[in-house]
Amino acid sequence: MCRVYTPAADIEKVRFSLETAVRVLEHLVAMFQYEYPLPKLDLVAVPELEAGGMENWGLVLFRTVRLFITPQTSLWIRQKAVYVIAHELSHQWFGNLVTMAWWDDLWLNEGFATWIGIYITDQLYPEWKRWDHFAIEDRQAALSADSLRSSHPIQVTIKGSADIDQVFDSITYYKGCALIRMLSAFLGIEQFMTGVRAYLRAHEYSTATTRDLWSALECASGQDVAQMMHSWTTHVGYPVVTVDDDFVKGRLLLRQTRYLHSGRPTAEEDRVVWWVPLGLISSATAAESSSCVVHEALTNRNGSVEIPGGSTARWFKLNYDNAGLYRVCYSRAALQHLACAIKQGELRTVDVVGILNDMVALVTSGYIRTTALLDMIESFQSASGYVVWQILGYFIESLYLTWANRSDYLRERIRYLARSMFAPKAKELGWKHRAEDGPLVARLRAISIPRAAWAGDPNIIAHACKLFADFYEHPENKPFHHDFTASVFEIAVRSGPPENHDRVRQMYERSHHWHLSEDHRMAALGAMSCTRDEKLMWQTLEYALSDKVLSQDLNIVIGFMVSSNYESKHVLWRWFCENYQRVVERLGECSALLGHVVGTVIGEFATASMANEIEAWFADKHTAAFDRTLPQSLEFVRVRAAWYHRDKDDVLKWFQSRDDSVSLL
Ligand SMILES: [Zn+2]
Repeated sequence: MCRVYTPAADIEKVRFSLETAVRVLEHLVAMFQYEYPLPKLDLVAVPELEAGGMENWGLVLFRTVRLFITPQTSLWIRQKAVYVIAHELSHQWFGNLVTMAWWDDLWLNEGFATWIGIYITDQLYPEWKRWDHFAIEDRQAALSADSLRSSHPIQVTIKGSADIDQVFDSITYYKGCALIRMLSAFLGIEQFMTGVRAYLRAHEYSTATTRDLWSALECASGQDVAQMMHSWTTHVGYPVVTVDDDFVKGRLLLRQTRYLHSGRPTAEEDRVVWWVPLGLISSATAAESSSCVVHEALTNRNGSVEIPGGSTARWFKLNYDNAGLYRVCYSRAALQHLACAIKQGELRTVDVVGILNDMVALVTSGYIRTTALLDMIESFQSASGYVVWQILGYFIESLYLTWANRSDYLRERIRYLARSMFAPKAKELGWKHRAEDGPLVARLRAISIPRAAWAGDPNIIAHACKLFADFYEHPENKPFHHDFTASVFEIAVRSGPPENHDRVRQMYERSHHWHLSEDHRMAALGAMSCTRDEKLMWQTLEYALSDKVLSQDLNIVIGFMVSSNYESKHVLWRWFCENYQRVVERLGECSALLGHVVGTVIGEFATASMANEIEAWFADKHTAAFDRTLPQSLEFVRVRAAWYHRDKDDVLKWFQSRDDSVSLL
């Protein structure tokens, strides 16, 4: 028996969640070949919860925003709801039926639940391409966090009770998931699941360790799984594979070294050799089929491999499907060949995303020049997948936030670049969803419009402000698709008249009047942070500490503010320093929420002087709740500062050389 509990007035809002839970359960039972172990399963929508969900056995708690899914809910919130339900329900087996022996194996619970949550979402809704989304969000989060010297191995030694909360992080969830994905892709899903089923049977109603899972998978596959995975779970970090290509001989020379955001590792930091499945494809093989992929693995520091098709291949690419957890550094010549292949549409979206993701990271860490990526932007723009555009948007935003405070000229030039990319796309796609559009086009449209507005496109800004004004006056006639609700709110506050700030506050407080779904009520709250007026920013932060806003939602307000424009992070930092005691009292000195807030407040700075100032400010504070988060965030700030200093002249010249073509400045 499967039920959802909610206040009686909200019963209609959870119909989709209940239907989803039933479908997910059927999939889980089929995958595990193990009946749900309890006589009932209840899902409960609770107004306040530190995590998104909590998998108590047979009584799973969710934040309301994860279960209240109505026809007005945005597509990506619906997608997230399906994933979170699948994640929490899989814990009924992985976590509850079999529990990790101690917190140092937390990744067994969370990495696996994340993998199966995505796997089942992909089975239920293949049109969402959920693994492509994983490639640009969760996998990136894991790779990014694990590029820091202050990261930790997946199997982590727990220092004390305050430490437990902190390891519920992107390493545990997403690196864990990415490793499971890499391994299951290599073993094949059938053999992998055979091992998982044996593991559940062997350890039901008991505890287990990482070693137990490897043993079960070894029995099922005949592969030396423990040997393959040892370096991945016991050591911090992951490798970058540098490729020396010899197209004439049709061979590649490969070398793996540890990848760090802050540049080349020392000999001491570079002792680990990983098992790296190559997933090599080339122009000579059809990339559509995994049977054409070279599945050899690099198991030493150096290795070589033949390009499929030998010297006739025009291009090659490693890490097919982004299945492996590593970055690839190609030569400039190899990148040029790939750029042509991308323009010709010869690569699948997920592989284009892999190249782009790696380039963005390698630019930040100094393996390649920022201008090498800027040179390729045109090729990437020819890709139609929203995931590619999302990464392009992140890259431009990151370039902007790092350069904006340093140079008025470059601030405007970077915005112009963003405008020249996103405004035509937004215009081409328009504001209306057409019946024939699938979910991927809907996502691309929903990304392009706010990006174009952020970059200053006057037509889109004016239109969004008008839509907002109409909606405010006439709540019965919403003049835009619900997927645009959050964007319209944000644009209206950032670029519209000052009174829009108070209007979104009203919408947040009286969401019924405007018939807002739960996610759009939160969007109204977040939009308050998008103001460019310093007084209103301060007012918003005070509001976030009032009893109008739940503690769990304070980080939403701060998260929107920190990236809404290049000056807001400084206002936020001043407010945070002045009000630190109140924030601590509100969230609790040991809460995970406090750690999240600290990470968000300081994470977007980009100068060494700010890193020093922040470090000095926290020196006499009690930092137990975020003694992992703080050094990680500071390391990011210093990485950005180094990025700027390394590439500033190069980037300036690149933009200056294109000044002739700029007419809209
Ligand atoms: Zn979980």
